[in-house]
Amino acid sequence: MGKGFFEVPIAVNEPIKGFAPGSPERKEVLDTYKKMYNSTIDVPMYINGEDVETGDTATMSPPHDHQHIVGTYHRAEKKHIEYAIETALEARKKWSVMPWEQRAAIFLRAAELIAGPYRAKINAATMMAQSKTIHQAEIDASCEFIDFLRFNVQYMAEIYAEQPESTSDTWNRLEYRPLEGFIYAITPFNFTAIAGNLPASAALMGNVVMWKPSDSQIFSAKIILDVFKEAGVPAGVIQMVMGDPVMISDTIFASPDFSGVHFTGSTNVFKGIWQKIGTQIHTYKTYPRIVGETGGKDFIVAHKTSNPKQVATAILRGSFELQGQKCSAASRCYVSKSIWNEVKENLIEDLKTVKMGSPENMENFVTAVIHEGSFDKLASYIDQAKKDDNVEIIAGGGYDKSKGYFIEPTVLLTTDPNYTTMSTELFGPIVTIYVFEDDKWEETLHLVDETSIYALTGAVFSEDRYELETAVRILENAAGNFYINDKPTGAVVGQQPFGGARGSGTNDKAGSKLNLYRWVSPRMVKETFVTPTDYRYPFLG
Ligand code: NAD
Repeated sequence: MGKGFFEVPIAVNEPIKGFAPGSPERKEVLDTYKKMYNSTIDVPMYINGEDVETGDTATMSPPHDHQHIVGTYHRAEKKHIEYAIETALEARKKWSVMPWEQRAAIFLRAAELIAGPYRAKINAATMMAQSKTIHQAEIDASCEFIDFLRFNVQYMAEIYAEQPESTSDTWNRLEYRPLEGFIYAITPFNFTAIAGNLPASAALMGNVVMWKPSDSQIFSAKIILDVFKEAGVPAGVIQMVMGDPVMISDTIFASPDFSGVHFTGSTNVFKGIWQKIGTQIHTYKTYPRIVGETGGKDFIVAHKTSNPKQVATAILRGSFELQGQKCSAASRCYVSKSIWNEVKENLIEDLKTVKMGSPENMENFVTAVIHEGSFDKLASYIDQAKKDDNVEIIAGGGYDKSKGYFIEPTVLLTTDPNYTTMSTELFGPIVTIYVFEDDKWEETLHLVDETSIYALTGAVFSEDRYELETAVRILENAAGNFYINDKPTGAVVGQQPFGGARGSGTNDKAGSKLNLYRWVSPRMVKETFVTPTDYRYPFLG
């Protein structure tokens, strides 16, 4: 341990840059984007401090321009995963005993590298890989990632300071040991910040990590890796492996040293992972920690007293930013009848001004969805809606994959509160609205609570405090992140710890201490200063 009770810098949220026309940051990010677009990169795996090229490569293309190739990446064979496990365990010997202030310094340095020299690169790469507008890239790849790194260091220090009582003759010391073995971080396509945070948070607490980014995010994952390297994460501590998720996962879950999974992605994949771990439980030296943040069917419910313009804005931003591909995106809305016409007019008028296209054109608010599988799935739901009697398309409904995977922001209006798009996670720019009678407020709140298997985010709008209170009570278990008079997206690290229960995950709240506790195994050390030498207690006479 170190030789002092060091205080870490107080974490503050990274300010969001505006990228207004004429600003230097806009020029820098566009120049970087163009440079990336007009060249190609090759992304090897990163194992034990070395680049590993396997020759089994796949190409990378921007979702908004799918015929254009911006690089290739290398896919693992089983032997690479086994080697990565072996060398991670070797690296653990030094990393797990490294004084915490050294670990903190590495990840604080990573935060500053992103805030400064890597900012344009990580934003441009995220615009390219995940088709994000510059605003969406900035709040994710730069600000949220920086916040995760800074706040987690502060939370780690706070956790270490949490100590039991001692007495004059007994000193009780709680050690927050890293888990024995290694952690497996499996990350989704939609947030660069999550891709960086899942391995980094476990590594910060002294663990070694096998990190498997999503195939659709590798172009920006490469920048994360460059940051980790430059910040000084030692060889073997975060191993980046890529390729077939089933082969990689099966190889990892077969290891007796597997001690935890840090997952973000879809619900069914997570359930499959849990099941596999369960069936192999006798293999492991320790009970693996299973942490997963998964799908959502996030709602907005608007009381008759709410402001129609505010509700329309929340629906537009909440449902269509990042093409509805936020786990928190609003995708089912319940609007009281007497305000519906005004909400509808505002929403449709606003949608007429929304532009769609490449993120390189900064006038675009909506860009492409992530890949062809997602595009085809979304298009099939739109086609079905065109055929069904109990639903009507009141905005959007167009789609085109000739150049990029573009789906128009689409608003469905249904008369059936159990219509399939009211309960199924589509993960795209499609929102379904159900209009309820003004006097059915409580009944509607129960409907919201019971319609889907998820419980991630939700928002309630009302100017009546009693009715807000009714909603807060009835919807207590319907969302892990609950919003009052605001859209249900945009959680900020350090302000709104994020996660949900039911089908949405283990609710271990990324960006909070609660998450970091999952990556330590406390050891209680009791030291007695004057040790008894006689077994007899006074009551024995
Ligand atoms: P996904 O489930 O398709 O993929 C997530 C990761 O799992 C990827 O790395 C993928 O390669 C891997 N994977 C896929 N199949 C696997 C298997 N059989 N075994 C092991 N790993 C496997 O999800 P996605 O499309 O990348 O992300 C979108 C999903 O993530 C949505 O459901 C969204 O709601 C969810 N999400 C949730 C949160 C949250 O905080 N709750 C945040 C972001 C995304």
